[in-house]
Amino acid sequence: MAPSHKPIPRGDFDSQPFWDGCSAHELRLQRCARCAVFRHPPRPLCHQCGSSDHDWVKVDGRGSVYSWTIVRNQAHPALPAPYAIVVVELAEAPGIRMVANLLDASFEDIVAGMPVELVFEDLADGAGLPQFRPSPSADPS
Ligand code: ZN
Repeated sequence: MAPSHKPIPRGDFDSQPFWDGCSAHELRLQRCARCAVFRHPPRPLCHQCGSSDHDWVKVDGRGSVYSWTIVRNQAHPALPAPYAIVVVELAEAPGIRMVANLLDASFEDIVAGMPVELVFEDLADGAGLPQFRPSPSADPS
């Protein structure tokens, strides 16, 4: 797929490894090196124990819809409305809820608990934008 012309996400000191992962089509999350709690969005300190030590862990991006909204007003020329934004609980990262667009779903079909999987949209400059789409199952077994 040709890169889209959406705004390019720019990382900072804490989030650049996350965005580098997105460029490589990998979902990389911070996990505290002391207490093993995941944290997202990336930030300097663990909310559980206060440690700044962390690892970057690759997770597969499967999860389920926790909440959602439909955006009906176009706020940017590259983001044609309407579109769905979902809050997803990630199966491999307990406690993490990730916000992204939901692709390939009728708005009427979106329900809490809906299984979804992560896909990456290629943007200009090699950036990758994480988004979700419906999945046949959120259970790997
Ligand atoms: Zn911790």
